[in-house]
Amino acid sequence: MNYIVAKFGGTSLANYEAMSRCADIVLASPKTRLVVVSASSGVTNLLVSLGTGQLSEQERVSAVDKVRAIQQAIIEQLSLSQTQLDHIESLLIQISQLSKSIIKTPSKIDETFKSLSDDILSFGEQLSSFLFTQVLIERTDKASWFDVRDVMRTSSDFGKAQLELDEIKSLVNEKLLPKLADEIIVTQGFIGADNQGRTTTLGRGGSDYSAALLGEAIAAEQINIWTDVTGIFTTDPRITSQAYALEEISFNEAAEMATFGAKVLHPSTLIPAMRQNIPVFVGSSRDPGAGGTIVRNETQSKPVYRAIALRREQTLVTVTSMDMLHAPGFLARVFTILAKHNISIDLVTTSEVSVALTLDDTGFNSSGRSQLNDELIDELKQICQVKIEQNLALVALIGNAIDSSYGVGTRLFSTLHDVNVRMICQGASSHNLCFLVEEEQSIDVISRLHQSMFEHNSQGAA
Ligand code: ADP
Ligand code: ASP
Ligand code: MG
Repeated sequence: MNYIVAKFGGTSLANYEAMSRCADIVLASPKTRLVVVSASSGVTNLLVSLGTGQLSEQERVSAVDKVRAIQQAIIEQLSLSQTQLDHIESLLIQISQLSKSIIKTPSKIDETFKSLSDDILSFGEQLSSFLFTQVLIERTDKASWFDVRDVMRTSSDFGKAQLELDEIKSLVNEKLLPKLADEIIVTQGFIGADNQGRTTTLGRGGSDYSAALLGEAIAAEQINIWTDVTGIFTTDPRITSQAYALEEISFNEAAEMATFGAKVLHPSTLIPAMRQNIPVFVGSSRDPGAGGTIVRNETQSKPVYRAIALRREQTLVTVTSMDMLHAPGFLARVFTILAKHNISIDLVTTSEVSVALTLDDTGFNSSGRSQLNDELIDELKQICQVKIEQNLALVALIGNAIDSSYGVGTRLFSTLHDVNVRMICQGASSHNLCFLVEEEQSIDVISRLHQSMFEHNSQGAA
């Protein structure tokens, strides 16, 4: 049988009622045998703060208490055995002890610190998966908890671990796939383990990616991402109430949306799905009857304008050097320094003596560490002048044949005639056109573009 993977996000598992709705969704579909869960809403943020090693004793105790209270409210609705209660208690005690032992030395974040921090982060998913398994067991005797660290093999890059795909595939085949024949398996998103068995994390929002990776490894028929919105919208529905859910979107378009900030999917989610051509469904666990968005290789419609994404907290770095004039190799030197510091560059524009680059400062690093550091800037300053601008936001227009459709630029610039567009990139992909604006203007910019392109039966809207 080809199985379906279901992933539930934090708000879907926020409390007992929300977990019950998710259990109903799982049991309504006999093919749904693998369930991947996030931590209950708010828990990972608390664990991130505990993992900084910078809380006062009072703040630390208060954060652990808040994690405990979220679990307690769920436990009260379940009839758990003493052994099960003891297990939860032991997880909470570990959070408390680990957070006590983590101390950040101001000068250096070493590997031990990062490893401990990932350890702490992993407890959100450990707790929610254990409790969600119990909610399922209330309804069926064919459900079990599974430790994803037995199969999700990663590098030791704590905070944003890389996946060892071949090992994952063979471990899943050996240890997880056979179990799916008989029962529903509940496991954790977001976390993995390196080859020494140390816990790692895949970066914030990484549970979507875990679900897709496991879906790929079991050659799933479909990956269902259950969240708090009824699909992928034309833009984040929190930006404008005029945004509406899309019935369908292609892998390429959705991957661009996720990369350019649409939080509804972790940016890497679609990579495994695309490799195996597995459709991904996005829907609301609160309102499963409302349908959702299907993401697949080929879509029936290919509108020029499909959606608009927003990525906040962008950093623009402009490097200038007279040496660059007619000198081969300058860009290579800049890029080598950035690569050495493990910086991912997003957009690049060049002029005669300057290069402007954007870095995604939201980072998707589990502990929210910024990519820019003094060491890197000093190194760049040895070969050029460096200017850093922050408080910018990247707006990405996503669609089809944007690079070869007439009138896109005219529409954009006439709608934004009074906005200072700080940088613009088009042409590398036929699926996007993106530009930087002042962060404080970004909501207005998107609302206006949305109105112009998606509201009045505009030609491009899906
Ligand atoms: P989960 O906890 O289920 O993983 P997330 O909070 O990570 O949920 O993602 C869902 C949120 O993504 C929505 O509440 C919405 O505000 C945001 N979002 C951003 N862009 C979009 C979009 N284009 N369509 C739908 N939701 C979006
Ligand atoms: N719990 C993790 C986070 O909040 C992973 C996820 O929700 O996808 O980032
Ligand atoms: Mg998410």
